[in-house]
Amino acid sequence: MSKFNEEDVYIFNPERECMSREDLKELQLKRLQKVVKYAYENVPFYQNSFDKAGVKPEDIKSLEDIQLLPFITKDDLRNTYPFDLQAAPKEDWVEVHSTSGTTGIPTVVAYTQNDLDIWAECTARGLASVGVHKNDIVNVAYGFGLFTGGHGAQYGAQKIGALAVPMSSGNTQRQMNFLKDFPADFLCCTPSYALYLAESFEKEGIDPQSVPLKGGLYGAEMWTEEIRAKLENKFGISAQNIYGLTEVIGPGVSTECHIKDGMHIAEDHFYPEIIDPNTLEVLPEGSEGEIVFTSLTKTGMPVIRYRTKDITSLKYDKCDCGRTTVRMSRITGRSDDMLKVKGVIVFPKQIEEVIMKMDELSPAYQIIVSRPGILDMIEVQVEIDQATFKDSIIDLEGFKHKIAKKIKEAIGIGVKVTLAEPYSLPRSEGKAVRVIDKRDFS
Ligand code: ZN
Repeated sequence: MSKFNEEDVYIFNPERECMSREDLKELQLKRLQKVVKYAYENVPFYQNSFDKAGVKPEDIKSLEDIQLLPFITKDDLRNTYPFDLQAAPKEDWVEVHSTSGTTGIPTVVAYTQNDLDIWAECTARGLASVGVHKNDIVNVAYGFGLFTGGHGAQYGAQKIGALAVPMSSGNTQRQMNFLKDFPADFLCCTPSYALYLAESFEKEGIDPQSVPLKGGLYGAEMWTEEIRAKLENKFGISAQNIYGLTEVIGPGVSTECHIKDGMHIAEDHFYPEIIDPNTLEVLPEGSEGEIVFTSLTKTGMPVIRYRTKDITSLKYDKCDCGRTTVRMSRITGRSDDMLKVKGVIVFPKQIEEVIMKMDELSPAYQIIVSRPGILDMIEVQVEIDQATFKDSIIDLEGFKHKIAKKIKEAIGIGVKVTLAEPYSLPRSEGKAVRVIDKRDFS
């Protein structure tokens, strides 16, 4: 049974979130012209790259003119490490965040007070759309520190006037105690961690439905509708998607309303484009491709046409919630982490969808790609659900075949399925690492 009440949701900033497209475009153009000029005048990187492309800030006369400007990529961000992309003077910086840098040099972003205010506004919009009010308690179990996750949700909750509990990730026993004893109305964390918490309650014989949670914003990793269904059913909540990246501002660039038909982009602050990742052409409305963002109002580290590598599509039709801002679909993959196995493009999400639909399996799984000889191999490690394991004697070989067959139907190539004991696969307290690629490409 769901404890979420649709009557609790509201629009945090109707003046901005429900603007007519015409007014919004006018505002976006004004802000775009301003930020392009600001970046050109204050960041040598932008001045060089615009000069190289033969474009001056005054050439931006319409929103479409943004296409005259060059893209900025993750590599550019690495090459300007740590602070060469900052536009505001150092005395105006009030906070610093950073990406983890697990794949190389981290990206460091300095925020001005203006940037923190924008960030709080964006996450407050998302929290309002899941029903957070002034008298609520919001448990933030995203990581705190240099990672943007925790801070964004906390600032948003505080902007609403709610009580934010900065739990951070990890220490699951304490999380469970807090959720029971200091009853939070909302929980924000990665979807995989929320599921892990539900599972931990069940392991102690506590029905997760008995904790008072009503909903929350879940993100910072790729997830699927199947995970949402599991999460909502286990806790009896509304689980809404939140998207963002440190390079742009952090979580809150877009958030999903209770209609759950895409995430509303805070378009007055972030201008989206969808491009073909290979040809770099801007694609027509509704196409799937890589999403590119331009920050329209940030002053610390503005980004102009930042290539996110995230694959999605945009919906401009009006949403039933009343907001007029464009919605982006769930991220279906990353242009650089789609797996190419035996020449076939595979998104890990396709495998996840199969696993999540099978009640006999727990939500924990791992995909291991290797090349034992000359051919690629995918091994999918899945875990039998504790309840199924206890209740029935199942034909394990037949069951493995059944899973492998379903995965093959979904991705088009065969995989090896390995069954793991209940609770034996690694759980994550932050972003789940689902794919291990052991192939040597060097
Ligand atoms: Zn909506």
